[in-house]
Amino acid sequence: MKIPFNRTCLGEEEIRAAMESIKSGKIGGNGPIGRRVERLIADMVGSRFVFLTTSCTHALEMALMILGIEEGDEVIMPSFSFVSAANAVMRLKAKPVFVDVGEDLNIDPLKIELAITRKTKAIICIHYAGIPCRMKEIMGLAKRYNLYIIEDAAQALGSRYKERYLGTIGDIGCLSFHETKNFTCGEGGAFLTNAKAIAKKADIAREKGTNRSAYLNGEVDKYTWFDIGSSYVLSDILAAVLLEQVKKVKHIINERKTIGLRYMKGLESLEYEDKIMLPSFDIDGSFNWHLFYFRVFTKKHRDYILRRLWEKGIGATFHFQPLHLSPYSRKMFEYKKGDFPVTEKASETLIRLPLYPALKKKEQEYIIDSIHKILKK
Ligand SMILES: *Cc1c(COP(=O)(O)O)cnc(C)c1O
Repeated sequence: MKIPFNRTCLGEEEIRAAMESIKSGKIGGNGPIGRRVERLIADMVGSRFVFLTTSCTHALEMALMILGIEEGDEVIMPSFSFVSAANAVMRLKAKPVFVDVGEDLNIDPLKIELAITRKTKAIICIHYAGIPCRMKEIMGLAKRYNLYIIEDAAQALGSRYKERYLGTIGDIGCLSFHETKNFTCGEGGAFLTNAKAIAKKADIAREKGTNRSAYLNGEVDKYTWFDIGSSYVLSDILAAVLLEQVKKVKHIINERKTIGLRYMKGLESLEYEDKIMLPSFDIDGSFNWHLFYFRVFTKKHRDYILRRLWEKGIGATFHFQPLHLSPYSRKMFEYKKGDFPVTEKASETLIRLPLYPALKKKEQEYIIDSIHKILKK
């Protein structure tokens, strides 16, 4: 059997939508379909403003640019993360300050507080696997120290923290529609905010620093350069694909949940035997089932299990290479091994399993059975 780590769930609806968009001739960005998607997402998650972007990375770049982050500023973020947030900070010649995560693999509010200095301007929290960070404490820190909160909600569309959707709690939230995410148009993202002043700047930054949006709305008869910006608008062809995906959000999450719960049940006995650690997902409904992972106790054992799974044709994988130990970070900063023990341990002991609607029950049974066999020895 050959089971890839990911399969996208684009179907006939998405194909038809892309075709119709192409035929319509209106394929630029900030177009009618893109705006429809923005309204749908805004209504779904309860965000006042939504701007589709070319990627989550670009939404993060916009966020830091709009908040006026500059040389000499520090932005706190977890080392256990994808590179996008760190890149966005470095581009502005500001400094990413890494901190450790807690056992939920999300940024640890206590570690944030220890890292705050006079130079700190913002915190970027990543909701790993679609699991919410401890937002109450993080928002408390923001208030106490007067800091901006940016949510990297790339993995988190559809997940909630208490009653609020992830991406709508901080000053700015960033979503991803990359092919590996729950909902995708290949490459794409979104910038969310509830603040009118931030939205106004985003509207201009996204359109190369111009007031093209106002022009499209018929508010002005020509558009021109107002501020610094770049080309961050999503083509309407991709927005058309995304529209179909957004219509299916509930359905896709439900399908993922069925598969996720099957893993939990199928691997539960291994946790009782102390062979693996399962994560504490909120299985009752506020979780989008973006990832399924489990952990073992040593790197050697993890690497062995991965190798055996690959031999059996199963596309299991690890996560993340800690940012503070990456070649670029080592060149630029003074971090060393041992600085963030929870991050380093997670990176050495975590295994992600295939989780997507197109995963067949037979395939999943094979995966679970294989893990049991590998761990028997
Ligand atoms: C996928 C991902 C990104 C990058 O998203 P793009 O849309 O590919 O730019 C950023 N942060 C996290 C946590 C991610 O998982």
